[in-house]
Amino acid sequence: MITVLTGGTGGAKFVDGLRRILPPQELTIIVNTGDDHDWWGLYVSPDIDSITYVLAGILSPERGWGVRGDTFHCLQAMKALGEPDWFSVGDRDLATHLLRSQLLSQGRTLTEATRLIAEKLGVRSRVLPMSDQRVETRIEKPAGELSFEEYFVKRRYQDPVKSVRFAGASESKPAPGALEAIIKTDSILIAPSNPITSIGPILAVPGIREALRETAARVVAVSPIIGNAAVSGPAARLMASQNLPASIAGIADSYADFLDTLIVHDSDAETAQALSSIGVEFASTDILMRTTEDRLRIANSALVCALPDNAAVKVAS
Ligand code: GDP
Repeated sequence: MITVLTGGTGGAKFVDGLRRILPPQELTIIVNTGDDHDWWGLYVSPDIDSITYVLAGILSPERGWGVRGDTFHCLQAMKALGEPDWFSVGDRDLATHLLRSQLLSQGRTLTEATRLIAEKLGVRSRVLPMSDQRVETRIEKPAGELSFEEYFVKRRYQDPVKSVRFAGASESKPAPGALEAIIKTDSILIAPSNPITSIGPILAVPGIREALRETAARVVAVSPIIGNAAVSGPAARLMASQNLPASIAGIADSYADFLDTLIVHDSDAETAQALSSIGVEFASTDILMRTTEDRLRIANSALVCALPDNAAVKVAS
């Protein structure tokens, strides 16, 4: 069994590699829900959707979010009605949000709604939200606060960030099955996701970080940072706002209390050697996922680090 902690686009690319190697029933994915938001009266869970779509083989390869080949007629019609259109929702994607909102309004939990939608899309791996309770990532600016999607999509992460908080986290509980998936697994992979706003909210759910420290499974992360820059998005800037160096040292620092191995880019191998005193092992490869082959190779490297004796995985490389 392999358990993955992940966010959206970087995580989805990594999960795409894993799903091509592992039998689906061996894969459990615990997904960030800090980006969840209400849009046109519907409950949208962007990271759960990206992971569900990638596992179903329908994620848009061009956009990295939403459904492959989707149309945007509803978005245009809403715009014509004077409704906000800064968050793009495709027509087929909309069906997911309608169904999830309906299930939640009927009293189903987010875990149940996620499972039902995944099943209907033919997904055989287990997709778990980090929690059934609402935890909202809030970006604090020098003046005022934004939701994550307002910061990231509407304002294209241009605002100065003072700090990041996870509203509701302290009262939340891990989703049913999440702690077990961390404790009773062969290994845990942390996707190359934003450590502050994709993995951070998962770690803020009481009990999850403790389970990661306690588990006997090896924990392996792939760095989302190469040199001093994120491969994409605001990870470097957000790390700086938390007084973390925007580098592999900052990633290792964020996860040091539970991480066994951090996979870094070849160009960071020397820096990694200097960090050996912090109790994390390093492995290096080309961690840029441009093609399907890259995704396979990186997923395979992570599995080899996580399961050093697994011959089946080695054959797949
Ligand atoms: P999002 O922020 O909701 O889109 O989702 P994630 O947190 O999963 O993905 C964003 C993170 O993935 C960023 O920090 C990127 O630096 C990282 N990332 C994106 N593409 C790649 C890649 O090809 N390789 C690696 N190593 N990291 C990546």
